[in-house]
Amino acid sequence: MNTYEPIIGLEIHVELKTKSKMFCGCPASHFGKKPNTQTCPVCLGLPGALPVSNKKAIEWTIMLGLALEGNIAEISKFDRKHYFYPDLPKGYQISQYDQPLCRGGTIGDIRIHRVHLEEDTGKLIHTNNTTLVDFNRSGVPLVEIVTEPDIHSTEQAREFLKKLHQTVRYLGISDADMEKGSMRLEPNISVRKTGEKGLPSYKVEVKNINSFRFVEKAIHFEIERQMTLLNNGEKPKQETRGWSEGKGITISQRSKEEAADYRYFPEPDIPPMRFSRHQISDVRRQIPELPDAKRQRFIKTYSLSEYDANLLTETRALADFFEECVKIGKVPAKKLANWIINKKPDMENVLPAALVKSILEAGNVISISDDVIKQILSDNPKAVEDYKKGKQQALMFLVGAVMRQMKGKGSAEEIKKMLLSKLQ
Ligand code: ZN
Ligand code: MN
Repeated sequence: MNTYEPIIGLEIHVELKTKSKMFCGCPASHFGKKPNTQTCPVCLGLPGALPVSNKKAIEWTIMLGLALEGNIAEISKFDRKHYFYPDLPKGYQISQYDQPLCRGGTIGDIRIHRVHLEEDTGKLIHTNNTTLVDFNRSGVPLVEIVTEPDIHSTEQAREFLKKLHQTVRYLGISDADMEKGSMRLEPNISVRKTGEKGLPSYKVEVKNINSFRFVEKAIHFEIERQMTLLNNGEKPKQETRGWSEGKGITISQRSKEEAADYRYFPEPDIPPMRFSRHQISDVRRQIPELPDAKRQRFIKTYSLSEYDANLLTETRALADFFEECVKIGKVPAKKLANWIINKKPDMENVLPAALVKSILEAGNVISISDDVIKQILSDNPKAVEDYKKGKQQALMFLVGAVMRQMKGKGSAEEIKKMLLSKLQ
């Protein structure tokens, strides 16, 4: 028996949550809408209709490229990618071929090949004996992220996808909701004999998976299937397959197209784009603090463990909620972190102030009472005197004294605030 090594690359499509579609003014938000109510001649591909690019979608794609540490193109353009399918009314998709908005980048040790912008297709709805087409999704801005074949296990694929998902959501450019199909995953898999160099001469692409778990299962299944073929002296075919969750297998759909089959050529109705350094740095300035940076800051600023900081920065909303609570100042950050992690308050309905209040009421934290402050001030007349003469250190001494009195169960920030208000 030979041993094999999986070679995996990922292609991810993410729908942007811009107000309007990529090349027309129709609303981009399509989920749950009455079919074919958000269409116009442009996104229906009617003859003579002219596309106009969505500026926000271009900016957001650049923003994602920058967040992934890729290189933004100075000149970029759109191309027509031709294929025939009922969900594609024009007979071609406006996509990007040889001049994508972004090349390169990384997530961890996985390299990103490119990030480009295109338009989504319509949606086929299969009923009993009929297939219906809903064009509400046709023309929604769609970002495609392609990795290099740097992934060698399902775990690595999962880590990468989680990180990308988190980044996209932090940037606020997509809901990346797998169930609603706003993030769709396509792994390509091949295997080579352990120790062999270079890429295998074939790869198998599994189309449009809408769950992290299914991707892992599909990758696992493909590795096994291809190893079996190779062990029997057969070579796996280059093809596109689909994942059947019901059967737990991938199923052959078609032999994989080569780029030449798509007859790419420059989209003649949209002028090429050129970006100045100034424009790109403008976009860079809009990037919010990203998960890694936030996690490090939480560890440093609030003395949280790596584990807690990781949980609290999982989403931007959760991290913001935690920091709002910290700002109130009555409960130490560590205590808040524990409470939020263990009790998982309903952030939609509980305000930070209300949470802090309920922690204090639960009696786990001694609230800093006026009495303690007064007592410490009258016990330490010398320090009070020194502070009034301008010695800042005397204030820190008093904070320390209050904290000792409270056996360390108060926030230094809050104690300082209360001391100051009494001293004035
Ligand atoms: Zn439209
Ligand atoms: Mn695509």
